[in-house]
Amino acid sequence: MGSQSSHHLSKIPDMEAIRRETGFSQANIVRLHHRFRALDKEDKGYLSKKNFLCIGELAVNPLCDRIIDAFFENSESVDFRSFIHILAHFRPIEEDKPKDLSTQELINSRKSKLKFAFQLYDQDKDGKISRNELLEVLRMMVGVQVTNEQLASITDRAIQEADLDGDNAISFDEFTKSLEKMNIEHKMSIRFLK
Ligand code: CA
Ligand code: CA
Repeated sequence: MGSQSSHHLSKIPDMEAIRRETGFSQANIVRLHHRFRALDKEDKGYLSKKNFLCIGELAVNPLCDRIIDAFFENSESVDFRSFIHILAHFRPIEEDKPKDLSTQELINSRKSKLKFAFQLYDQDKDGKISRNELLEVLRMMVGVQVTNEQLASITDRAIQEADLDGDNAISFDEFTKSLEKMNIEHKMSIRFLK
């Protein structure tokens, strides 16, 4: 750590709290703060939706809009603390968790990643992914080469496979079970956060 790092450290409010809440190392927090400030072109101290469109890792994601919406759940703008909280869901899971964080459920745990993914589907927030909600997300992911008919049948099959209680929707528990074998830790990690 040179004098340049400590210069930036002093500009980050609540460094200790952020480190505890997110599990990011100080070095990562400093790096993300840099990134935050680079996105904050007008130097407002918070980001608006259009600032997010500059994040390359999101721009290539078909669920980009949904993910960006997740940053803005309750407001029009995102300050650094909210920014880093959302990003923490995408922090890769490491074997060696910091010792002082081992007792609480980390924000980047498998369960927490699944919850984040679930809310990208569950747009009306009723705790279930309906057929239509699933259809919408699948349409964003598959692109135009799949016909509506094919998409409808893919959706129905996915619901049938995941829906254990027969209500024609996918609860969080059903969602978790259906993804049991999927390497969500890998899929929900963004490389620049390593
Ligand atoms: Ca729903
Ligand atoms: Ca169900």
